[in-house]
Amino acid sequence: MALSDQQNHDQPLKIIEIAEEEKDGKTVHELKLNEENLKKIMLHPDVANNAVMIVAIAGALRKGKSFLLDFFIKYLEAQMSANWLGDDDEIKGFQWRNGTAIVTYGIQIWSKPFIFENKDGKKVAVLLMDTQGIFDCRSTKQDGANIFTLSCLISSVQIYNLMHQLQADDLENLEFFTEFVKTVKRCSDITADGRSRIMLLIRDWGCPEEFSYGDEGGSRYVDMQLEIEENQPEQQKKIRRTLKEGVLDLTGYLLPYPGKAVATEKLYRCLVKDVDKDFLHFVKILVSNIFSKKNMATKQMNGADVRGKEMVDYIEKFVSVLNDGKCPSLETTVEVIAEKGRQLGITEALALYNSQMQQCLDKSEVSMKKLEEYHQKFKKHAFDSMEKYPRIIVAEHEVECFINLGNKIDDAYKSYQSQTTEAKEKIRKEKRIEFVKTYIV
Ligand code: GDP
Ligand code: MG
Repeated sequence: MALSDQQNHDQPLKIIEIAEEEKDGKTVHELKLNEENLKKIMLHPDVANNAVMIVAIAGALRKGKSFLLDFFIKYLEAQMSANWLGDDDEIKGFQWRNGTAIVTYGIQIWSKPFIFENKDGKKVAVLLMDTQGIFDCRSTKQDGANIFTLSCLISSVQIYNLMHQLQADDLENLEFFTEFVKTVKRCSDITADGRSRIMLLIRDWGCPEEFSYGDEGGSRYVDMQLEIEENQPEQQKKIRRTLKEGVLDLTGYLLPYPGKAVATEKLYRCLVKDVDKDFLHFVKILVSNIFSKKNMATKQMNGADVRGKEMVDYIEKFVSVLNDGKCPSLETTVEVIAEKGRQLGITEALALYNSQMQQCLDKSEVSMKKLEEYHQKFKKHAFDSMEKYPRIIVAEHEVECFINLGNKIDDAYKSYQSQTTEAKEKIRKEKRIEFVKTYIV
């Protein structure tokens, strides 16, 4: 396929939709997972077995999220080369497909993964995610906070896209997510996700004299917003205290107005030269910061990279937990996700044990003594794999989890004993006796 055909083929795939349903006379919102699309992305050969960096942008509709994502796509398509943006390039992709703006409530991921090496030379699949329509009039505050949390859970870098300034509602959403991360920490020995990286991106920034465009002014602006003042209501003080605990790695970035041509939506096609130079300058700095090798933040759990294939299970679980209760307690949510992690870890460790045992048995004749040696060795490998498996660790369930894995491995070991030299010899002997009994006696 020619490159341009391939590029035309790439598109945003919807993985979560917000569906409205009537329940007991009330309108409730449910998160609907599109499993087929999720698998298409996460089980892609370049993603399934690699660490993933998922860059998400979330916020209200019509605030330029897709427009910005289109720049990200361009930058990644050009393999982050210095001359990635030409004057006559068209800005398209997430935004104007087939000439119409895509208006969806939910989460979409760009179908194409971008493969890079991080600073340790490890392959990382970079995915771009768009979360939108979540803080609009149709949704309740709880819906907004839930889906914002979901978006933060899925992504490794979250950009919270806001117009003009940071508002009280935005801080409330951040507080909800902070509480979630804190609960994860309380329930586990090691944090599930280290510090969660969230960038507050303010569009059409109007006071560059006070806080300059870019990251320095942005982070100063965020710090100023989090300051606790005497005359603030108690609730506002509490939110700020929570956010200042350092659970989230909060940064800010201020972007200038992109110019009339972009903002007034008159253009059917938008070319780079139609966009204000200042805006382009700060977008260039933004992309080189987000995707720099040193900032390439992979999705982690328990200090280990989560691979694409594991993301499928986790996302399924996150969605079902958030849908389950109308407002599930944070403890329940974390416990269910932790349980899923343990199950996945056991399945993978057992599969490793089985494949190593089978390989040895297929290679040559194995005595009972040798089998026992293999068993001990590969059982240890399986335990090491479980130890390293990316998951939330809940101290009180750890011992039980390893006992469970040990039992499963010992059961499997019993079935391998029938394949040893001694066992085969015994079977042959029994057959000979049977033969003698039948034909000779
Ligand atoms: P989304 O719904 O948040 O994804 O918003 P879109 O990217 O589809 O953009 C909505 C409209 O806002 C489009 O007409 C864009 O041209 C325009 N737009 C994009 N970026 C900006 C921006 O930074 N400032 C302003 N004022 N308008 C923008
Ligand atoms: Mg959009």
